[in-house]
Amino acid sequence: MKCFHIVVLPGDGIGADVVAEGVRVLRAVESKLTNLTFQLAEHPCGAGEYLKNGDPLPASTMQACRQSDAILLGAMGLPNVRWPGGTEMAPQLDLREEMELYAGVRPIRLYHPAHSPLKVSEGIDLVLYRENTEGLFASRKNTRPTGATEVIDSLRVSRRASERLFRAAFRHAQRRRKHVTLVDKANVLPSMAFFREIFNEIAAEFPGVCADHVYVDAAALYLVQHPQRFDVLVTENMFGDILSDLAAGIVGGMGMAPSGDIGDHNAVFQPSHGSAPDIAGKGIANPIATILSVAMMLEWLPSEEARRGAAMVYSAVERFCEDPDRATPDLGGSMTTQQTGEWIAADLMR
Ligand code: ATP
Repeated sequence: MKCFHIVVLPGDGIGADVVAEGVRVLRAVESKLTNLTFQLAEHPCGAGEYLKNGDPLPASTMQACRQSDAILLGAMGLPNVRWPGGTEMAPQLDLREEMELYAGVRPIRLYHPAHSPLKVSEGIDLVLYRENTEGLFASRKNTRPTGATEVIDSLRVSRRASERLFRAAFRHAQRRRKHVTLVDKANVLPSMAFFREIFNEIAAEFPGVCADHVYVDAAALYLVQHPQRFDVLVTENMFGDILSDLAAGIVGGMGMAPSGDIGDHNAVFQPSHGSAPDIAGKGIANPIATILSVAMMLEWLPSEEARRGAAMVYSAVERFCEDPDRATPDLGGSMTTQQTGEWIAADLMR
């Protein structure tokens, strides 16, 4: 019997609510599989943990993450808990950087046309690859000099980080519609011209995959006008941060957007959303993004049986979404977080 060790980090705000439903679905999958179990270990992390013990990412949590087979994370950060420089606690970014989880993989799929604010006659099914370890976020730990009249952040692009990101995006496209689009600003920023040069080199390694480029401003336009033109998009950290929220918006919002932060040895799976303080504690957060993140985790684990479990989760979510009235308030319904998780888990067990 194979056992995978999963670290669970519920974190802040709605994190605990949505992770509870992700775990419920994972346990339902486990009960349907014959040769696979999951050992789950919950660890403290987040702005709440900082308030309690002074460190948003304790060393014991970090060590457990490194030793795990995969990590399931809820959401981190609270708007009123900040570092002295004014930025929010973001241990999920520290995890990405420390474990070199260089590929931020964000699948964007429309499960029901009623979820989209767009008039859609075709489906929406694309994947955004966000560089996770550098870009404009490379400046995030700079200290802000007191009384400064000017503050500069710089955008870092390294050959190493770019090559591994692009290869991951092209490999993913090989399993899909074989098309990768680089989103950049190569017409303005030298770092982005360098990014594009490396992209073109890596594209040459994948002759069976079509490669093209779109400037980031045009990418925002096309995502709204004709998202079907995209298969796999790959981009810089900050551009990816912004475009993944926009892309989530066209398929129903943050509650429908899962993600995986994937490196060569470790991976964190989490909904793309934050801790959503405006709805925290109300029991109405949409847990589907987290449940789909559990499916991504099952797909990533090195086991055929786990991949079978992933397919079961995707099918159960599809069935849940067949009726658009069956939804949490963000999608116009009146179901709670828990009712949604219970429905999907029960469907899966049938
Ligand atoms: P971060 O910067 O950490 O990503 P954020 O402050 O940009 O976080 P989110 O916490 O992702 O924003 O929330 C953005 C909006 O989406 C909020 O209005 C929030 O209520 C909504 N939202 C986020 N997650 C969910 C969810 N699971 N279900 C319903 N609504 C959600």
